[in-house]
Amino acid sequence: MTDQTEQNQHQHGFSTRAIHEGQEFDPITGAVVPPIHFSTTYAPEKIGQLRRGYDYGRGTNPTRDSLQTQLAALEAGPGQQAHAFTFGSGLAAENALIHAIATPGSHIVMGNDVYGGTYRLIDRVLGPWGIGHTVVDMGDVSAVERALAEAQATILWLETPSNPMMKVSDISALAEVAHAAGALLVVDNTFATPYLQLPLTLGADIVVHSTTKYIGGHSDVVGGAVVVKDAELAEKVQFQQFAAGAVNGPMDAYLTTRGLKTLGVRMDRHTSNAQQIAEWLVDRPGVERVLYPGLPDHPGHELAARQMSGFGGMVSVQFTGGAAAARQVAETTRLFILAESLGGIESLMNYPAEMTHASVAGTELAVPDNLVRLSVGIEDVQDLIEDLDRAISSL
Ligand SMILES: *Cc1c(COP(=O)(O)O)cnc(C)c1O
Repeated sequence: MTDQTEQNQHQHGFSTRAIHEGQEFDPITGAVVPPIHFSTTYAPEKIGQLRRGYDYGRGTNPTRDSLQTQLAALEAGPGQQAHAFTFGSGLAAENALIHAIATPGSHIVMGNDVYGGTYRLIDRVLGPWGIGHTVVDMGDVSAVERALAEAQATILWLETPSNPMMKVSDISALAEVAHAAGALLVVDNTFATPYLQLPLTLGADIVVHSTTKYIGGHSDVVGGAVVVKDAELAEKVQFQQFAAGAVNGPMDAYLTTRGLKTLGVRMDRHTSNAQQIAEWLVDRPGVERVLYPGLPDHPGHELAARQMSGFGGMVSVQFTGGAAAARQVAETTRLFILAESLGGIESLMNYPAEMTHASVAGTELAVPDNLVRLSVGIEDVQDLIEDLDRAISSL
């Protein structure tokens, strides 16, 4: 492809980029879907002269490249460029990223509601290697400013909307605070996805993803990604990917690419189903609070409306009947399957206090025990509401 057509391609709308970027048909057979490249090694033309830049599958693989190109084009935003690197899981991506941008003595300031596994990685895996952390409420910008200065932190890490409290934090404001302190801003964009939110265009330096969730979208492939704008930063992440080797395999990369092609249509449906369910839940007897940024009384509603193009598919609910009620609802629904993950086409229900967030029980990041988290799927919304109605009426 010439530079000119490449340039035009970057200007296209979201779903056009999702379907076409990195997905050129196979030049030999004309296959419209690029073949999956399983080969671990590549024959050079001569010693020291590679045919297409490929030599060994840990460093580079055409199927992984296809996903990386596609994802970079989506996170960069229209007309912009970025660099994406994919890994065997979201946490493998985060671990590689931190190795690329931190050394012993570095300090990370993170939200008090980051994903439990992110907290565990930073606290229990990287902590013993000399990487420090402070946990702060990202809604309190001056507290973040103080925490960054106090520890001379070089990394600010946030998740918005957050999991499972659905708190919304101000990416632009926090990017300013981070940059003034000489720190990089990392945004975990797993919940929003690039379809609804583009942190790199709001001032963030780095986006991380668990592609296991909405990007893969079908609950059948684990993976992760790091996306950056800066070329120097890209080189550091790429070095970690190659030298530490936590890469995703070709089949996983292919499945993730296939999922990503339909992200736009899926997110539209996830969002409209979630909005209808959140509104329906508000007036249910037994429901104490519904946490969804699409509800006008949600504390992050206006901010979310400003920095997101939709409110997403995740809804958390707290019950007046405490832990017993939350557990009963979680164990009674039929279409909403009780399971850990999120972001798939099927609806899932999770009880964070003892499932996804069990690793942060007893810490500042602990989740209320009367809360269930819904990952609203793309089924027919009336069926989902009937399922919830049956479970909640049983309380
Ligand atoms: C699942 C998740 C992760 C971790 O990703 P894995 O693919 O499970 O390793 C990180 N951040 C968020 C917000 C997640 O939901």
